[in-house]
Amino acid sequence: MELLDGRKVANDLLDTLKIEVDSLQKRDILPKLVVILVGDNPASLSYVKQKRKACEKTGILWEQINYDESITTNELIDTIKKLNNRDDVHGILVQLPVPEQVFTPDVIRAIDPKKDVDGFTAYNLGKMFLSPDFEDLPPCTPAGVIKMLDYYNIDVSGMDATIVGASNIVGKPLTTMLLNRGATTTTCHIKTKDLKANTLKADLVCVAVGKRNLITEDMVKDGVILVDIGINKKEDGKLCGDSDFESISKKASYITPVPGGVGPMTVACLMENTVKATKNLNKIT
Ligand code: NAP
Repeated sequence: MELLDGRKVANDLLDTLKIEVDSLQKRDILPKLVVILVGDNPASLSYVKQKRKACEKTGILWEQINYDESITTNELIDTIKKLNNRDDVHGILVQLPVPEQVFTPDVIRAIDPKKDVDGFTAYNLGKMFLSPDFEDLPPCTPAGVIKMLDYYNIDVSGMDATIVGASNIVGKPLTTMLLNRGATTTTCHIKTKDLKANTLKADLVCVAVGKRNLITEDMVKDGVILVDIGINKKEDGKLCGDSDFESISKKASYITPVPGGVGPMTVACLMENTVKATKNLNKIT
């Protein structure tokens, strides 16, 4: 079994991006990411901190706008419109989730797709359907999974891939990206009749649900590649994924740890999208 070491792959990517940022800075182009944070949800604060650290590591400029829980959809949209018009801003990210009174789809829709470094707008998601060549600003978590598989020379073409979880930000775009690369994909969700039958047949299982121990050793075949995207908190406060790492690692050919797997890759791909957006906006190929 080989560990898919997301921390190492992400650090390598950040080092490469730093070189790109340095060369942009020499041309007086200063990549900048603006993060909008609403409220003080501990998980959001922790994600924002990780993103800020990655900006510091790569030299991407960071601006954070904090709002109180009581913010309205229109107030957020007004802020985004101003950021869309600022030439010094290349990436805009609204840390999700936002409070209930805010209508998230309208907030996402307000972001200029050219600055949508989270890859959540319909424009950037829609482009992914065409081919890998059009995955310009893909959602960061699925992009991180693909990048990690590439790093370990895992070619998914011809593989049976089962994706567990069908959210708009992880499961669905990951399905599209794997399909784009020649995998035969099955996407499972809460209404799937027989989850085990679908994971058992798969060469590659990717799970993104948010339920501890959802995938157990009896649900995967020998030699499986297991990518665990889920993040859950154990009783002792430590993080774990959606699968039983201990027992599946004895059966798997490759497996991601949680933490240290997909999480760091997501952040690194956000940095990559910010650099890409900067280059696109400045018409640099
Ligand atoms: P989400 O929007 O809640 O989506 C969860 C998906 O899982 C839904 O499609 C849901 O189906 C499905 N599901 C729920 N119970 C299921 C079950 N018993 N069997 C099969 N499918 C089931 O969550 P998300 O935003 O995609 O995130 C999923 C997990 O990944 C969370 O733990 C999150 O923290 C983690 N995550 C990690 C990263 C990272 O960088 N590592 C990034 C993003 C998210 P229905 O829609 O039909 O209910």
